[in-house]
Amino acid sequence: MNLTSPHVVRELLRRHGVTLHRALGQNFLVDANILRKILDAAELSPETGVLEIGAGIGTLTRALAEHARHVLVIELDRSLRPILRETLAGVENVHVEYGDFLKVNLPALLDAYCAPLCQVVANIPYQITSPLITRLLEHKASFTRMVLMMQKEVAERLLAKPGTGEYGSMTVFVRYHAEVRLVTHVSRNSFLPPPKVDSAVVRLDPRAEPPLPVKDEKRFFAVVHAAFGARRKTLLNALSGGLGQPREVLEPALERAGIDPKRRGETLSLEEFITLSNELHGDLMEA
Ligand code: SAH
Repeated sequence: MNLTSPHVVRELLRRHGVTLHRALGQNFLVDANILRKILDAAELSPETGVLEIGAGIGTLTRALAEHARHVLVIELDRSLRPILRETLAGVENVHVEYGDFLKVNLPALLDAYCAPLCQVVANIPYQITSPLITRLLEHKASFTRMVLMMQKEVAERLLAKPGTGEYGSMTVFVRYHAEVRLVTHVSRNSFLPPPKVDSAVVRLDPRAEPPLPVKDEKRFFAVVHAAFGARRKTLLNALSGGLGQPREVLEPALERAGIDPKRRGETLSLEEFITLSNELHGDLMEA
């Protein structure tokens, strides 16, 4: 059964009487070319375990199962179960876990079905993009790589350069934890039904260590959030407001970090944010 054929997918849904839920981001990939690009980026080996989020009708799941040791796929919508029974019939190395990716016991599932060599490959449900990426990065030590289909605008934020409108705290958060590369742009017409947005496939390679040593991770993220919390203010004013600190405490640290206090926070690179937060370490007054 060719699951990237729109005709086949429509027929499958009709035969099982399944109606799709836009609110769950149910847009199924019907583009064999994109499917191949996702698999190429994943570079699976027969030893790899894969975590997939959102099985849909099993299009990606089936392709992953052919190339990986085992696939763990977490799917929220139980009404897809009869379809998945059919499309995954005879595929022995897939475990479908029905539940909300944001709520399942991820470490236990990864232990049982993905470890020790585990990577993420998923065409993610767009309505939970931010918490999903955050959750994956919280568990980044479990994954050797993540290949994720996401909304084009989100991909642009993850790939953005300092000083651009797309560059923000999400950019810094993700790049702190992982190296980010664009795999391919994806037209909305590669899905059935087509969503209202275009997409992109992005590859995240988790970092074992941040690009520079960080003295205090909490402080680092506090500085980042303060800097982006008031994008139109100078860095000095944004930090002063966001961290609740007098300028006299912040100015020397900025100087030691070699950062002009009149710059906008959004122009700082990841490395500059790290240097600055390290220089602030110990200087801050109890707020
Ligand atoms: N991987 C498939 C389906 C992508 S559509 C394909 O490429 O065609 C996204 C899927 O995520 C849908 O099947 C939807 O039911 C599922 N989903 C939505 N929210 C979810 C959640 N919180 N946890 C797990 N799956 C979810």
